[in-house]
Amino acid sequence: MSTTPVSPTLYLVPTPIGNLEDMTYRAVRILQEVDLILAEDTRTTGVLLKHYQIQKPLQSYHIHNEHQLVRQWVARLLQGKNIALVSDAGTPAISDPGFLLVREALKADVRVECLPGATAFVPALVNSGLPTDKFVFEGFLPHKKGRQTRIQLLAAETRTMVFYESPHRLVKTLSQLAEAWGEGRPAAVARELTKLYEETRRGTLAELAQHYTEHPPKGEIVLVVGGVDSVSNPE
Ligand code: SAM
Repeated sequence: MSTTPVSPTLYLVPTPIGNLEDMTYRAVRILQEVDLILAEDTRTTGVLLKHYQIQKPLQSYHIHNEHQLVRQWVARLLQGKNIALVSDAGTPAISDPGFLLVREALKADVRVECLPGATAFVPALVNSGLPTDKFVFEGFLPHKKGRQTRIQLLAAETRTMVFYESPHRLVKTLSQLAEAWGEGRPAAVARELTKLYEETRRGTLAELAQHYTEHPPKGEIVLVVGGVDSVSNPE
């Protein structure tokens, strides 16, 4: 059933985080129907569009040009064009470009619709075995400036915490969190979600730090850490 509205719309369209089957029917239809697709990397999105036999004008929209281009795309929407924004993987605007365009589009009274779909943090959180009733998405920890401040600030966090992490920084992060929050804090590392070598490893921060020191990880990673209460109240 087609639900395309009459007023011009900015669609945020999630794309697979590994497994091409995780594209929804609606995501494919919207990409077929819009006038233009904005992509973080036109080559990556080009492969996806080819797979689904979608032929649409493709323009680049990424962190290095989003500030300059945001007004231009809002103007196109106001001229009546339907535009879809996609990132390389997962949901746009989740640790990816998108927020600025959404904010400016809404300011200009443009309709914005975000399709539900693939994102890395939800399967990582749900599969961690840690409480899911309340959680906080932290994205990437700062690499240098502000890193220790952020870690100290989160020491008293009671909700389950979700971080995006790179494989070469995982051991450093696990060790720093163990030092700051206690070695026994429960956590889970979700690696290569939806891909051939998908793995979720659960344990304390210290156990995970030791494991990944001995077995340096590869691929994409989500780190989930229990809140401060999860040590004394594991249930
Ligand atoms: N927009 C994406 C989303 O909705 O999840 C996130 C993009 S962010 C630039 C990329 C980070 O997401 C990776 O460094 C990793 O932390 C996480 N990620 C993406 N795909 C993943 C996967 N298949 N398995 C585990 N983590 C993944």
